[in-house]
Amino acid sequence: MGGTFDPIHHGHLVAASEVQAQFGLEQVIFVPTGQPWQKGHEAVSPAEDRYLMTVVATASNPRFSVSRVDVDRSGPTYTADTLSDLRALYPDAELYFITGADALEQILSWHRVEELFELAHFIGVTRPGYSLDDAHLPQGSVSLVEIPAMAISSTGCRQRVHAGLPVWYLVPDGIVQYITKRGLYRPDDAGPAPEW
Ligand code: ATP
Ligand code: MG
Repeated sequence: MGGTFDPIHHGHLVAASEVQAQFGLEQVIFVPTGQPWQKGHEAVSPAEDRYLMTVVATASNPRFSVSRVDVDRSGPTYTADTLSDLRALYPDAELYFITGADALEQILSWHRVEELFELAHFIGVTRPGYSLDDAHLPQGSVSLVEIPAMAISSTGCRQRVHAGLPVWYLVPDGIVQYITKRGLYRPDDAGPAPEW
Protein backbone atom coordinates (compact mmCIF):
# COMPACT_ATOMS: atom_id res chain seq x y z
CA MET A 1 0.00 0.00 0.00
CA GLY A 2 1.65 3.19 -1.19
CA GLY A 3 0.94 6.62 0.19
CA THR A 4 2.30 9.91 1.31
CA PHE A 5 1.31 9.07 4.89
CA ASP A 6 1.64 12.70 5.98
CA PRO A 7 0.47 11.63 8.56
CA ILE A 8 -0.68 7.99 8.53
CA HIS A 9 -4.21 7.77 9.99
CA HIS A 10 -6.85 5.20 10.93
CA GLY A 11 -8.35 5.27 7.40
CA HIS A 12 -5.08 3.80 6.05
CA LEU A 13 -4.87 1.24 8.85
CA VAL A 14 -8.47 0.04 8.52
CA ALA A 15 -8.06 -0.29 4.74
CA ALA A 16 -4.90 -2.37 5.14
CA SER A 17 -6.33 -4.56 7.88
CA GLU A 18 -9.57 -5.18 6.01
CA VAL A 19 -7.82 -6.13 2.74
CA GLN A 20 -5.31 -8.31 4.60
CA ALA A 21 -8.19 -10.24 6.18
CA GLN A 22 -10.45 -10.46 3.11
CA PHE A 23 -7.63 -11.60 0.79
CA GLY A 24 -5.73 -13.64 3.38
CA LEU A 25 -2.54 -11.68 2.66
CA GLU A 26 0.65 -12.80 4.38
CA GLN A 27 1.67 -9.20 4.96
CA VAL A 28 0.77 -5.67 4.05
CA ILE A 29 3.80 -3.56 3.21
CA PHE A 30 3.30 0.17 3.65
CA VAL A 31 5.47 2.14 1.25
CA PRO A 32 5.80 5.85 2.05
CA THR A 33 6.58 7.90 -1.05
CA GLY A 34 9.77 9.78 -1.62
CA GLN A 35 9.02 13.16 -3.17
CA PRO A 36 5.45 12.62 -4.43
CA TRP A 37 5.28 13.75 -8.06
CA GLN A 38 1.59 14.64 -8.01
CA LYS A 39 1.99 16.71 -4.87
CA GLY A 40 5.08 18.62 -6.00
CA HIS A 41 3.37 21.96 -5.57
CA GLU A 42 2.56 21.36 -1.91
CA ALA A 43 4.95 21.16 0.99
CA VAL A 44 5.27 17.56 2.09
CA SER A 45 6.89 16.64 5.41
CA PRO A 46 10.38 15.12 5.28
CA ALA A 47 10.37 11.53 4.05
CA GLU A 48 12.11 10.38 7.21
CA ASP A 49 9.29 11.76 9.41
CA ARG A 50 6.64 10.12 7.24
CA TYR A 51 8.59 6.84 7.23
CA LEU A 52 8.98 6.87 11.02
CA MET A 53 5.30 7.68 11.61
CA THR A 54 4.39 4.73 9.38
CA VAL A 55 6.69 2.46 11.40
CA VAL A 56 5.25 3.72 14.71
CA ALA A 57 1.66 3.22 13.55
CA THR A 58 2.18 -0.30 12.19
CA ALA A 59 4.70 -1.71 14.68
CA SER A 60 2.20 -3.64 16.81
CA ASN A 61 0.65 -5.59 13.91
CA PRO A 62 2.66 -8.71 12.97
CA ARG A 63 1.13 -8.63 9.46
CA PHE A 64 2.17 -5.02 8.78
CA SER A 65 5.61 -3.87 7.72
CA VAL A 66 7.13 -0.77 6.13
CA SER A 67 9.42 -0.55 3.11
CA ARG A 68 11.97 2.16 2.43
CA VAL A 69 12.19 1.50 -1.33
CA ASP A 70 10.57 4.81 -2.30
CA VAL A 71 12.14 6.87 0.47
CA ASP A 72 15.61 5.63 -0.52
CA ARG A 73 15.19 6.06 -4.30
CA SER A 74 16.12 9.54 -5.47
CA GLY A 75 13.82 11.48 -7.78
CA PRO A 76 10.04 11.40 -7.93
CA THR A 77 8.15 8.29 -6.81
CA TYR A 78 6.41 6.26 -9.49
CA THR A 79 4.32 3.26 -8.50
CA ALA A 80 5.80 1.25 -11.39
CA ASP A 81 9.24 1.63 -9.73
CA THR A 82 7.80 0.75 -6.33
CA LEU A 83 6.32 -2.47 -7.67
CA SER A 84 9.46 -3.39 -9.64
CA ASP A 85 11.59 -2.93 -6.52
CA LEU A 86 9.22 -5.04 -4.43
CA ARG A 87 9.19 -7.70 -7.13
CA ALA A 88 12.99 -7.86 -6.95
CA LEU A 89 12.86 -8.19 -3.15
CA TYR A 90 10.09 -10.83 -3.22
CA PRO A 91 10.58 -12.70 -6.52
CA ASP A 92 8.06 -15.43 -5.73
CA ALA A 93 5.35 -13.33 -4.13
CA GLU A 94 1.95 -12.57 -5.53
CA LEU A 95 1.79 -8.78 -5.37
CA TYR A 96 -1.33 -6.75 -4.68
CA PHE A 97 -1.46 -2.96 -4.64
CA ILE A 98 -4.06 -1.38 -2.34
CA THR A 99 -5.52 2.00 -3.28
CA GLY A 100 -8.43 4.08 -2.07
CA ALA A 101 -11.24 5.03 -4.44
CA ASP A 102 -9.74 8.50 -5.03
CA ALA A 103 -6.36 7.10 -6.07
CA LEU A 104 -8.03 4.51 -8.27
CA GLU A 105 -9.85 7.28 -10.15
CA GLN A 106 -6.47 8.85 -10.90
CA ILE A 107 -4.71 5.68 -11.89
CA LEU A 108 -4.89 6.18 -15.64
CA SER A 109 -2.90 9.39 -15.20
CA TRP A 110 -0.11 7.47 -13.46
CA HIS A 111 3.32 7.08 -15.00
CA ARG A 112 3.85 3.90 -17.11
CA VAL A 113 0.25 2.86 -16.52
CA GLU A 114 0.39 0.02 -19.04
CA GLU A 115 3.09 -1.70 -16.93
CA LEU A 116 1.26 -1.30 -13.64
CA PHE A 117 -1.36 -3.96 -14.17
CA GLU A 118 1.30 -6.51 -15.12
CA LEU A 119 3.30 -5.78 -11.99
CA ALA A 120 0.48 -6.32 -9.48
CA HIS A 121 -3.18 -7.01 -9.01
CA PHE A 122 -4.89 -3.80 -7.87
CA ILE A 123 -7.36 -3.63 -5.00
CA GLY A 124 -9.55 -0.54 -4.84
CA VAL A 125 -11.21 0.16 -1.48
CA THR A 126 -14.19 2.37 -0.72
CA ARG A 127 -13.54 5.83 0.68
CA PRO A 128 -16.21 8.31 1.84
CA GLY A 129 -16.73 11.08 -0.72
CA TYR A 130 -15.50 9.08 -3.73
CA SER A 131 -17.22 6.55 -5.94
CA LEU A 132 -15.53 3.25 -6.50
CA ASP A 133 -15.79 1.85 -10.00
CA ASP A 134 -13.48 0.16 -12.45
CA ALA A 135 -15.33 1.06 -15.65
CA HIS A 136 -12.29 2.83 -17.10
CA LEU A 137 -9.72 0.24 -15.99
CA PRO A 138 -8.61 -2.93 -17.81
CA GLN A 139 -11.00 -5.78 -17.13
CA GLY A 140 -9.91 -8.21 -14.42
CA SER A 141 -7.00 -6.08 -13.24
CA VAL A 142 -8.73 -4.56 -10.22
CA SER A 143 -10.79 -5.94 -7.32
CA LEU A 144 -13.19 -3.60 -5.61
CA VAL A 145 -13.63 -4.01 -1.86
CA GLU A 146 -16.06 -2.45 0.57
CA ILE A 147 -14.40 -1.44 3.84
CA PRO A 148 -15.72 0.33 6.97
CA ALA A 149 -16.11 4.02 6.10
CA MET A 150 -13.50 6.22 7.74
CA ALA A 151 -13.98 9.86 6.76
CA ILE A 152 -10.40 10.75 7.62
CA SER A 153 -7.73 12.31 5.39
CA SER A 154 -4.15 13.34 6.01
CA THR A 155 -5.04 16.79 4.65
CA GLY A 156 -7.79 17.08 7.28
CA CYS A 157 -5.39 15.96 10.03
CA ARG A 158 -2.75 18.51 8.94
CA GLN A 159 -5.36 21.27 8.87
CA ARG A 160 -6.58 20.34 12.33
CA VAL A 161 -3.10 20.42 13.84
CA HIS A 162 -2.42 23.71 12.04
CA ALA A 163 -5.59 25.17 13.59
CA GLY A 164 -4.71 23.87 17.05
CA LEU A 165 -7.46 21.21 17.00
CA PRO A 166 -6.88 17.68 18.32
CA VAL A 167 -6.23 14.68 16.08
CA TRP A 168 -6.69 12.17 18.89
CA TYR A 169 -8.63 9.09 17.65
CA LEU A 170 -8.13 10.06 14.00
CA VAL A 171 -4.52 8.84 14.13
CA PRO A 172 -2.88 6.33 16.52
CA ASP A 173 -1.77 7.75 19.88
CA GLY A 174 1.90 7.41 18.96
CA ILE A 175 1.31 9.59 15.90
CA VAL A 176 -0.30 12.34 17.99
CA GLN A 177 2.81 12.26 20.16
CA TYR A 178 5.22 12.14 17.21
CA ILE A 179 3.51 15.12 15.54
CA THR A 180 3.76 17.09 18.78
CA LYS A 181 7.36 16.09 19.42
CA ARG A 182 8.49 17.13 15.94
CA GLY A 183 6.21 20.19 15.72
CA LEU A 184 4.75 18.98 12.40
CA TYR A 185 1.93 20.91 10.68
CA ARG A 186 2.06 23.81 13.15
CA PRO A 187 2.13 27.39 11.86
CA ASP A 188 5.63 28.89 12.03
CA ASP A 189 4.46 31.55 14.46
CA ALA A 190 2.62 29.12 16.75
CA GLY A 191 3.86 29.22 20.31
CA PRO A 192 4.83 26.14 22.24
CA ALA A 193 3.02 22.92 21.31
CA PRO A 194 -0.12 22.19 23.32
CA GLU A 195 0.53 19.90 26.27
CA TRP A 196 -1.04 16.49 25.78
P1 ATP B 1 -3.80 13.54 1.57
O1 ATP B 1 -5.02 14.22 2.09
O2 ATP B 1 -2.50 14.18 1.96
O3 ATP B 1 -3.88 13.19 0.09
P2 ATP B 1 -4.71 10.88 2.24
O4 ATP B 1 -5.54 10.81 3.47
O5 ATP B 1 -5.41 10.83 0.92
O6 ATP B 1 -3.74 12.13 2.33
P3 ATP B 1 -2.60 9.30 1.16
O7 ATP B 1 -1.28 9.07 1.82
O8 ATP B 1 -2.69 10.26 0.03
O9 ATP B 1 -3.65 9.72 2.33
O10 ATP B 1 -3.26 7.91 0.73
C1 ATP B 1 -2.60 6.69 0.60
C2 ATP B 1 -3.62 5.65 0.12
O11 ATP B 1 -4.61 5.43 1.13
C3 ATP B 1 -4.40 6.11 -1.12
O12 ATP B 1 -4.61 4.97 -1.93
C4 ATP B 1 -5.71 6.59 -0.55
O13 ATP B 1 -6.77 6.50 -1.48
C5 ATP B 1 -5.92 5.63 0.62
N1 ATP B 1 -6.73 6.22 1.69
C6 ATP B 1 -6.41 7.32 2.43
N2 ATP B 1 -7.36 7.59 3.33
C7 ATP B 1 -8.32 6.64 3.18
C8 ATP B 1 -9.59 6.40 3.83
N3 ATP B 1 -10.03 7.21 4.81
N4 ATP B 1 -10.31 5.34 3.41
C9 ATP B 1 -9.86 4.55 2.41
N5 ATP B 1 -8.68 4.72 1.75
C10 ATP B 1 -7.91 5.75 2.13
MG1 MG C 1 -4.40 11.34 -0.83
